[in-house]
Amino acid sequence: MRLTFLGTGSAGGVPLWGCDCTVCTRARIDTSVRRLPNCAVLEAGDVRLLIDAGVMDIAERFPAGTLSSILITHFHADHVQGLFHLRWGTGSLDAFAPHDADGCADLYKYPGPLNFTHLSKFETFCVGDVRITPVPLVHSKPTLGYCIEYKDAKLAYLTDTRELPPATVSFLKEWRPHTICLDCTYPPGVEGKRNHFDLNEAIAIGADYPDSNMVLMHISHHLDEWLMTHPTIETEKFSIARDSEFIDCPESI
Ligand SMILES: [Zn+2]
Ligand SMILES: [Zn+2]
Ligand SMILES: [Zn+2]
Repeated sequence: MRLTFLGTGSAGGVPLWGCDCTVCTRARIDTSVRRLPNCAVLEAGDVRLLIDAGVMDIAERFPAGTLSSILITHFHADHVQGLFHLRWGTGSLDAFAPHDADGCADLYKYPGPLNFTHLSKFETFCVGDVRITPVPLVHSKPTLGYCIEYKDAKLAYLTDTRELPPATVSFLKEWRPHTICLDCTYPPGVEGKRNHFDLNEAIAIGADYPDSNMVLMHISHHLDEWLMTHPTIETEKFSIARDSEFIDCPESI
């Protein structure tokens, strides 16, 4: 089972429009360090799932018939903006999403080929041979993480959250994923009201899951700037996601 990041950035991405910090300036020259909005594609057997749709060229990347379904974590623009182009297309594509009466703009009213199914937490469903369990997260909009299983491979995709609810923690401890992809938007010690984890919080969560590799994503330019002066933070257990990178989860143990 392979997860490939299409984007690994927080809302606004890297480079951030109008920002002249070291990271954003570098990213304008070196496209390899850019970060598009956080989203990924998961491939297992003949199933191919798009997880969130923040990139704007979904139609080019995935011609009709090449995606099995879309999993939407929540309806903030940086996670669904790519759907606004897709909906002018024809055909049919299932999109699984949390219950959110507001959705995003007029996406529910004019979904085009997108068939939305609203999910209940912890109710496992299947797309082909891939089992998916939505788990609740704490964010400024109704948000789901996805625990995805194929054969013995298990990966949890937990973006846009400032807290894991106790029921999600219990589920993950029992489920024991090989990999946890986790929101880590900020460098350590950012003050004020936040809707995302910082690096210290993400590392503390990793300690609760000794069997899991932690892949940190939804990275802001502030965290990238901090990482430039702390380059040794990555370990065998913790890695910082980069656009176009992939993670392979073993399908047999
Ligand atoms: Zn986001
Ligand atoms: Zn910047
Ligand atoms: Zn969000």
